[in-house]
Amino acid sequence: MDQKNSVQPILILPEGYTRQVGKDAQRSNILAGKIVAETIRTTLGPKGMDKMLVDSLGDVVVTNDGVTILKEMEIENPAAKMMAEIAKTQEEEVGDGTTTAVVIAGELLKEAEKLLDQNVHPTIIANGYKIAAMKAIEKLEKVSEKIDIKDKELLKKIAQTAMTGKGAYVSYAEKLAELIVDAILKVEENGHVSRDAIKIEKKMGNGVEDSKLIEGVTIDKERVHPDMPSKVENAKILLLESSLEVKETERDAQIRVETPDQLQAFMEQEEKMIKEMVNKIESVGANVVFCQKGIDDLAQYYLSKKGIFAVRRVTKSDVEKLAKATGGKVVTNVKEVTEKDLGFAGLVEERKIAGDSMVFVEKCKNPKALTILLRGGTEHVVDEIERALTDAIGDISAVIENGRIVGGGGAAEIEASEELRKFAKSLGGREQLAVNAFANALEIIPKTLAENGGLDPIDMLVSLKSEHAKGNKNYGINVEDGKVEDMVKKGILEPLKIKTQALKSASEVATMILRIDDVIAAGKLSKGPSPQMPEM
Ligand code: ADP
Ligand code: MG
Repeated sequence: MDQKNSVQPILILPEGYTRQVGKDAQRSNILAGKIVAETIRTTLGPKGMDKMLVDSLGDVVVTNDGVTILKEMEIENPAAKMMAEIAKTQEEEVGDGTTTAVVIAGELLKEAEKLLDQNVHPTIIANGYKIAAMKAIEKLEKVSEKIDIKDKELLKKIAQTAMTGKGAYVSYAEKLAELIVDAILKVEENGHVSRDAIKIEKKMGNGVEDSKLIEGVTIDKERVHPDMPSKVENAKILLLESSLEVKETERDAQIRVETPDQLQAFMEQEEKMIKEMVNKIESVGANVVFCQKGIDDLAQYYLSKKGIFAVRRVTKSDVEKLAKATGGKVVTNVKEVTEKDLGFAGLVEERKIAGDSMVFVEKCKNPKALTILLRGGTEHVVDEIERALTDAIGDISAVIENGRIVGGGGAAEIEASEELRKFAKSLGGREQLAVNAFANALEIIPKTLAENGGLDPIDMLVSLKSEHAKGNKNYGINVEDGKVEDMVKKGILEPLKIKTQALKSASEVATMILRIDDVIAAGKLSKGPSPQMPEM
């Protein structure tokens, strides 16, 4: 047989792997990124639309919040996932500006694609973008304004800018802004805000206007036994990680009972152990117990006889909040508890809210523990308001920590964009093209705000640019009245930190995607037929 002509292919990848290289890889990654940005673009700004997401179990989420949409979408494409990641980073770092970051990243990719068509090398684009991002951030720092972080009215306006557009709840924005600002000013310490000291407890029923700020922690549970006191003053609180049951610890033991006497003895033994646990709790002086696991019927009975208030199956995160608020230590084994482990609160009380019982832990040792008790008609409303609150809390914290604001409504983006155009002229070489592309990309924010607000994006951009050319650095689009005006005077304000972080993360992800020229993917593990995203 003639072997000369048969060339054996060399396999370097196992079976089932796919590989895309060079331009193919770039193009398909860029496309994926653009699709993600395009998907959430319609939600940007106060006039942005909401999205309804339905998961495979039929659960519905209606939201305007970028990070939530991307979280719920179960994206599979790896480049699209990277885009979704920036929303997450943005949310964690500063708490708002997630849509902005993703939309800018998508536009950076779109602009990059045009340069790739002109045979500009991706590395040059990536470098240009890096320089441009730095320059844009520098400019924003320069045009930002210092504010008095004790000025409550101003802080309320920032909170409102963050919340407007989150559905039909604008009418309550003022009331909610007040709650948030009060809460944040209480937890603020030397210019630092610990965002997690503020708990948001959702409770359906009544209207949003009945939402309240509670100085302390609320637990959405009731006491385990009706004979327990419903109110304990000067509470000494035990936070318990393990259960108050015998069974659980003895689960593996095999017990063979052969006579009634043995059964009797066994039950007495169990009773004795439970009694010992309760006695131990009493002996260290605890009059309130929050238990992360179950509390046995017998234990409930003994606790109530001793007048100890107890709640079971408290979530781990609530127990952690309680620990912070009351200064208590979470105890794993009840046998080892000492008086020093107990937390303190001036008042622990069970109260009825919308027909359900809730436990309020107030006048805590640490006065900085707060809860916003959020009310509202339906689950979807309350959920969306919670997201609006988290965004606003992020904004206010950012502004308190950094002390600077910029104009909203596209003002900051246009100011940065115009600066980049000037700067590009000073650059020789092809990086100039990339810096200009970055400047173009930033225009997507005012353009989208206008589009979503039913305004003509071209007219708006022209008039914005001419105002900025005149030195009106805070002019932006007010989508409420359709005018280009001074955003700072109008109180449409955004923290500098939200904007700079958005630029940083957007340019990082865009350059990362651009640098990829080889995608090697393992074959999918077959999971049976499952709903698939359209090919990107
Ligand atoms: P993100 O997830 O990026 O925070 P949002 O949907 O919250 O997205 O929209 C924020 C954008 O809306 C910001 O650019 C902000 O300046 C802008 N904005 C807020 N209020 C107004 C307003 N009244 N007119 C124009 N733009 C506004
Ligand atoms: Mg926002």
